[in-house]
Amino acid sequence: MSVAAPAVAPVRPVLRERGQREVFCGLTGIVWLHRKMPDAFFLVVGSRTCAHLIQSAAGVMIFAEPRFATAIMEEKDLAGLADLNEELDREVGRLLERRPDIRTLFLVGSCPSEVIKLDLPRAAQRLQDARPGIRILSYSGSGIETTFTEGEDACLAALARSLPETPAQAASALEPELLVVGALPDIVEDQFARLFAEMGVPVRFFPGRSSVDLPAIGPHSRYLLAQPFLGETASVIDGRGAIRLPAPFPFGADGTAAWLQAAADCFAVDPLLFRRTIAPGRERAKRALERHRERLAGKSIFFMPDSQLEVPLARFLHAELGMRLIEVGTPYLHARHLAPELDALPADVVLSEGQDVDRQLDRVRAARPDLTVCGLGLANPLEAEGLSTKWAIELVFTPIHGFDQAGDLAELFARPLRRRDVLKV
Ligand code: SF4
Repeated sequence: MSVAAPAVAPVRPVLRERGQREVFCGLTGIVWLHRKMPDAFFLVVGSRTCAHLIQSAAGVMIFAEPRFATAIMEEKDLAGLADLNEELDREVGRLLERRPDIRTLFLVGSCPSEVIKLDLPRAAQRLQDARPGIRILSYSGSGIETTFTEGEDACLAALARSLPETPAQAASALEPELLVVGALPDIVEDQFARLFAEMGVPVRFFPGRSSVDLPAIGPHSRYLLAQPFLGETASVIDGRGAIRLPAPFPFGADGTAAWLQAAADCFAVDPLLFRRTIAPGRERAKRALERHRERLAGKSIFFMPDSQLEVPLARFLHAELGMRLIEVGTPYLHARHLAPELDALPADVVLSEGQDVDRQLDRVRAARPDLTVCGLGLANPLEAEGLSTKWAIELVFTPIHGFDQAGDLAELFARPLRRRDVLKV
């Protein structure tokens, strides 16, 4: 007689490091979030450093009124010589008077406001009570123990907490609805919306293009994450009874197909209709990737922890372009959300979480990868040592999701290698 052993998923060793880190802070998320929600305004409560960061990252809008600003805390504020709450109320009052177009105001915390323990959630509630016509929320974009994509997570979690709830008695009567969670460029949102419409899947996007037209969420909601860094947002949505559809993230031809497949399976889309709907896009993506495969296949790549996109991108580069993964580092490893991605990584790749920058740089130097994906601060020194690099932040600012962006995504990795070859010649 033989006894079958229960199927146990292999446990992948993870190198966990807690040392010095080199990443941007969560304020950076304002750069793409203010474009996504043009009726929202982001008021950073911070220092001159915060103002410089956000101004230089987002640039100056010449033709439009800016949709972000910094309420600068001066020395007397930090020393407790002024009543910060009074000053904040005054600044918010002035802002809203001048800008009646603002529908949602985010008060964004920073390192200084966190250090002096300014209670921004309470301030937001106080201001909200006085102005019921505007939604006033708060979240932290501080760089203390966070990385830059967590700014989006914290912002969307705050917004998700204010989403209308489906009344319990109505939930069972409602048809299931799909929610795509994570800020996507409008062009990508339109492409996905078309594909879901062709399959007959009712879909809403969160965030959408308006910060006030928000979907109700509840047990009738099924959701797909579009970004791998939305742990807090997902737990707020889970708390409302919505069901997450596990899937790889929509990068590349196969990743996008598998992500769409998760929705098609959940909404019982006819398999023939599904294949017919995705075939043209998938073909286009495969053709676009073919052009880059020649340059990228067999090349080695090392991801330093930065954007939290590292694991899905490593899967894409390995599975669809034949790149050799040396180390895939990520600031935080959300094992549940990344499970389908982790399953697709080769067994011999080093998976690391967190950072001890000097030790990690030693590993980069020892491995001498063809390409290192890292933050801006590390790229120049590595280039000076003859190593090709890719700035991780570019991956967040560029549309990279979906079939029609698969070629552009591969191009982002192929370009530094091409440049290296040209310089060698
Ligand atoms: Fe610097 Fe902190 Fe302000 Fe970010 S929030 S710019 S890390 S002081």
